[in-house]
Amino acid sequence: MKTYQIPVCKGGESIVTDSFFDITNPSNGEIVSRIPKMNSADVDRAVAAATAALAETDWSHNGVLRAKVMLQWADRLEENIESVARQLTLENGKLIGEAIYEVTSQVGVIRYNAGLARTVSGRSHSLGRDSFAVVAREPMGVVAVISPWNWPVTLMIRDMAPALAAGNALLVKPASQTAGVSLDVLRLLLEETDLPRGLVHPVAGSGSDAGQAIVEHPGIDMIAFTGDGSTGRSIMRDASQSLKKLSLELGGKSPMVVCDDADLDKAVPTLVSAIFTTTSGQICTAPSRLLVERGIEGELIERLKKAVSAIRIGDGFDRNSQMGPMTTRDQYEKVLSFVERGRREGRLVAGGEPLQDESLAKGNFVSPAIFTDVADDSPLNRDEIFGPVLVIKTFEGDEEAIALANDTEFGLASAVFTENVHRAWRISRAIKAGTVWVNTYNRFYPEVEVGGYKQSGIGRMAGIDGLMEFTQTKFINFDSIPPQG
Ligand code: NAD
Repeated sequence: MKTYQIPVCKGGESIVTDSFFDITNPSNGEIVSRIPKMNSADVDRAVAAATAALAETDWSHNGVLRAKVMLQWADRLEENIESVARQLTLENGKLIGEAIYEVTSQVGVIRYNAGLARTVSGRSHSLGRDSFAVVAREPMGVVAVISPWNWPVTLMIRDMAPALAAGNALLVKPASQTAGVSLDVLRLLLEETDLPRGLVHPVAGSGSDAGQAIVEHPGIDMIAFTGDGSTGRSIMRDASQSLKKLSLELGGKSPMVVCDDADLDKAVPTLVSAIFTTTSGQICTAPSRLLVERGIEGELIERLKKAVSAIRIGDGFDRNSQMGPMTTRDQYEKVLSFVERGRREGRLVAGGEPLQDESLAKGNFVSPAIFTDVADDSPLNRDEIFGPVLVIKTFEGDEEAIALANDTEFGLASAVFTENVHRAWRISRAIKAGTVWVNTYNRFYPEVEVGGYKQSGIGRMAGIDGLMEFTQTKFINFDSIPPQG
């Protein structure tokens, strides 16, 4: 077991507490990390220090400094990919290959945003002979990043990197389930770069205590939150008292539309990866609703059953494993209770069992579940399960495919599989979601904005727009200068 300390900037004061919380390995139930538990008094101290650091340092004005620090952070993270990925698998349970990919990809995200740090600029306008205006682009001020446990390195850095590039000071509250790996990544920034003192503050603790203190704090100007919709709504309500800017990245119930001309050799493995083996289905974009054109339903289900029965489920460190455990016991029980409900409200075509194998019995392992004939209004069809549970429905023609794809309160992601470019274009334009993949899934790039329609969120991540979310504009107007003498 690794006992953590809260990382602080070079020369900063260390945080002393006698209160801790533990993180267990989802593959075997053993305690792997002990984390200092911070509270509202720590949040007060962090906000005061962040506010002072913005006033005392050159950070908000100096893109060269920000780029330098961020590139140092990327280098340190790159040097530590293996140890960070190991801690990620220990706390989250995901396959070590996925963990290495997760950490590696974030090195690129930091570098991309480091480049952007030197491009943050406003505009000028000539508004007549005697009037000239500058629209300056300035950071928001003190920003809090609140992130979840499923892709804890990605989703923390996805907000931190543009927020830093834009010149803000940060409080960072990672999910308690994966706080150790998050602190490892933050330590590299705080202790191994030239980040000026007081600008970034890890806040390890529970959502209801430290998280809520962040939401209510009048000294925080913006919250960038990724997590569950109900948490997002409560943050929106409580943050309204101090009128904070919000960016909310929430849940999904994403459709994958497979047309009768689709290349099934591509569609089936892509689907199996996206809903089952990637993070065991615990991913916000997971295509949990398969919409398949009636003529190919039988063949697709047969191929899926075959692919699913071949998935090797096991410990994330076992290189033979293709799918790991549910990250928490709560999530494991939630998935099994949805499966139980599905047995009553639909037809279970495959899987949905807790694993009996003795070596896995202490872990949160469950086999992928596939359902058909589920009523439209069943929670199986409506709610985000956040696990390896797929519901299949058939359609006939583009209009029905589009209507079914949009029959959800969410709008995070979606996909269309077809070899017909006209169908691909028509369906992807009509789906109400922030992302539509055509003949692929779960592809993300630092350059490209993503985010939710409808109940899946507010704001955009990544790309230029993602950086702009962490800025505000200031209009400065120069009036005419009176003639001399
Ligand atoms: P969660 O909402 O329970 O927790 C997310 C974070 O919020 C954690 O750090 C938690 O401690 C904190 N929190 C909880 N209550 C809080 C409060 N009252 N005030 C402030 N902070 C609080 O979500 P989770 O279970 O960690 O993650 C799973 C959810 O995240 C799923 O719904 C998933 O779809 C969503 N998600 C969305 C995206 C996206 O990009 N849209 C990405 C990943 C996950």
